[in-house]
Amino acid sequence: MSNPFSESDLIAVVQRTLVSVLGCTPGDVAADVAIANELDADSLDFVELRFNLEKQLGIVLPQKSVLDHLVAVLGDESQVYDKGRLTELAAYALRESFFAYRVDQVAAGMQPYEVMGCATVRNWANLCKGILDGLPERCPDCGHDKAEVSPSGRPICAACSSPLKARTGDDALAASIPGIVSRWSETRVAA
Ligand SMILES: [Zn+2]
Repeated sequence: MSNPFSESDLIAVVQRTLVSVLGCTPGDVAADVAIANELDADSLDFVELRFNLEKQLGIVLPQKSVLDHLVAVLGDESQVYDKGRLTELAAYALRESFFAYRVDQVAAGMQPYEVMGCATVRNWANLCKGILDGLPERCPDCGHDKAEVSPSGRPICAACSSPLKARTGDDALAASIPGIVSRWSETRVAA
């Protein structure tokens, strides 16, 4: 079933959630505003942001970071961190991940916490989109193959309105890593 949410739908969801979590105004939360660095969200705000996004969208956000998953797949931390800073591969993986960080946001040599600091409304919306791209092939209740957004804003079957569960954020991230690593190897060979 294809994802019934567009990037702009999900940006609007993250914006509304931040307005309620941070008590800011909609004008403060442009799509490319960094949630920690520019809106001063702290770790408790992020706990609340995550909880509210999961509840709103009916998804499970990842517990582990892209870098944790990268280390798990490679089995070798030294390919991901160099003296605690991101390697070229780590920065590439973050840009190619669901977060879709831009080149001017994430580069080799940054510290991992700096990445979290610069994550924008759009990066979080893209994470949700990557997870919602992992809906089941067919509705588990009626076998229909189209999803839609319910009036309350969750993914449901377009035929029988059953709620749909996307694979979890950690499963989705883990599944995305091997392709990223092989694209990285290809860019190395090409260079
Ligand atoms: Zn159905």
